[in-house]
Amino acid sequence: VCVDYSREKLKWNGWGWLEQDFDLHGREEGLWEFLQAQLGIDDLPDTPAVPLEEMPLPENRLSESQIEDLRGLLSADRVHVDRYERLFHAFGKSYHDLIRLRRGEIDEVPDAVVYPQSADELVALTQFATTHHLALVPYGGGSSVVGGVEALAGRLAGVITVDLSRMNRVLSLDEESLTATAEAGIYGPQLEEHLQKHGYTLGHYPQSFQFSTLGGWIAARGAGQQSNRYGAATKFFAGATVVTPSGILHSLATPNSAAGPDLRHLIAGSEGVFGFITEATVRLRPLPTARDYRGFLFSEFKTGADVVREIIQEHVDVAMLRLSDAGETWFLSQFKSIGKPASWASKATSAALDLVGVGENPCLMLVGLEGTTTSTSASRVAIARIAMGAGGIPIGAKPGKGWYGTRFDMPYLRDALLDRGVGVDTLETATNWSNLHHLHQTVRKQIATSIRRHTHVGTGEPIVMAHISHSYPDGASLYFTFIFPVALEKPVAQWKAIKREVSDSILENGGTISHHHGVGTDHRDWMEGEKGELGVAMLKAVRDSVDPHGLMNPGKLLP
Ligand SMILES: Cc1cc2nc3c(=O)[nH]c(=O)nc-3n(C[C@H](O)[C@H](O)[C@H](O)COP(=O)(O)OP(=O)(O)OC[C@H]3O[C@@H](n4cnc5c(N)ncnc54)[C@H](O)[C@@H]3O)c2cc1C
Repeated sequence: VCVDYSREKLKWNGWGWLEQDFDLHGREEGLWEFLQAQLGIDDLPDTPAVPLEEMPLPENRLSESQIEDLRGLLSADRVHVDRYERLFHAFGKSYHDLIRLRRGEIDEVPDAVVYPQSADELVALTQFATTHHLALVPYGGGSSVVGGVEALAGRLAGVITVDLSRMNRVLSLDEESLTATAEAGIYGPQLEEHLQKHGYTLGHYPQSFQFSTLGGWIAARGAGQQSNRYGAATKFFAGATVVTPSGILHSLATPNSAAGPDLRHLIAGSEGVFGFITEATVRLRPLPTARDYRGFLFSEFKTGADVVREIIQEHVDVAMLRLSDAGETWFLSQFKSIGKPASWASKATSAALDLVGVGENPCLMLVGLEGTTTSTSASRVAIARIAMGAGGIPIGAKPGKGWYGTRFDMPYLRDALLDRGVGVDTLETATNWSNLHHLHQTVRKQIATSIRRHTHVGTGEPIVMAHISHSYPDGASLYFTFIFPVALEKPVAQWKAIKREVSDSILENGGTISHHHGVGTDHRDWMEGEKGELGVAMLKAVRDSVDPHGLMNPGKLLP
């Protein structure tokens, strides 16, 4: 395990490694010109982030003797109360988090950050928090985009953020059952390095893979980019140990169980509200020996969506099917060509596409196949039959390879845009196939309308795009991205207003409030709309049974 996740190596108010930025290869000017033209802004402002030393730091609510006691429970070097650690752990990595951090608009930060190394230490921490009425915030990679790790005390006397990244060992590998058990704070690359040495993979590669942990994946019910093959967290998660303020829960890692409702479904998606997942057992696959990523174009999103549905309903072995709508396909091609003169080859390509009827607003479908040479060849044939039968145009492996090679890079761009007053946010949902087209159209329109309504900067149009990212026999998820001018005088209010209207629209139109990002603080107010009053009461009853004093991650998941 060689990746070093020391907190000082990571950005405290942005994405990823401190030393890494989005590399535009000298095409910055082209990007700013493109955005200025689209958003209708003459000159993008400089909007640098408040430096660490100038950030307001709320007073520490813990007494010296409480901090000393914490040091006694763990060890002095694993209890931090300094500025960097407290600010680093104040928020996750959502747009909402970053704008507040960058502007120094923070009300609460953890009073202490602790790094436990065992379940016994977590038990001791829950006892300490019970005695002193303190909130405990489980923190894995901190990549939550829904306010899942925000340091909220609620009615309690202070907040201890519990950073689990030192609980990062692989504990066992069962090669017969194809499962592995690991401590929950293990990061994606650390886990995969260990598994791949033995010829296996979990295959869970969210875009945040490099900066998120096993416990966070399960706690937020996440889905990796290749979830069609490897499954979302609910599918690969086989069992866990959870330390709660009321005791330790072990869920049996059997393949299935008819012993009443499955407790694993309460652990997955529990977002730290029921306790700390200390270790988890996950289902593995042999490491693929063949990989094939390629593209198709369709004249319409609906045709492409029908193709995705048919491929999934035929149970073709596919790792990823990602269908961009016309807006996203347009944006990707514009972004790629920023600062480059239109080549004769690209002109010839668009002329050829016109000729074969794909038209001016094509939709790109990226297909990712993983497995053996035999299985990927069989899938390639089946997909070509379905896609080309519906009028899709195969465009070869280049777009697939390009996407694969840069699949973790895009989040770095958000920081660069925020430096110039340009916001970029994402949201996601899922629905049944019969409602997918309607939901796509309605939410897309709502995002644009809400941005226009709450943004009085720029004379252009916001950039709104979407893709199908994960699909199932009965439906699929939709992932929306939008780029807009930040309302610099009140960016948080702007974001909240847009978020509220779009979230209402998602629920009113038959979508879930989240397919894979979770609930946190940002979606909490829509939980009753989705689960009903009784459903939320059931979840609260579970919470009260494992955490009667409400110490665990207050303000998240449950309204
Ligand atoms: C750029 C970017 C891209 C992303 N792409 C994806 C994607 O493709 N797919 C996807 O699913 N998500 C994605 N996310 C969201 C996020 O990465 C996931 O929710 C991820 O699963 C969180 O893992 P983490 O370790 O960072 O958890 P954290 O952010 O630390 O925590 C998430 C939630 O789980 C709780 N928690 C964490 N660890 C534990 C534990 N051991 N026990 C109990 N509770 C715990 C926290 O309290 C919090 O409520 C993305 C986020 C970003 C910023």
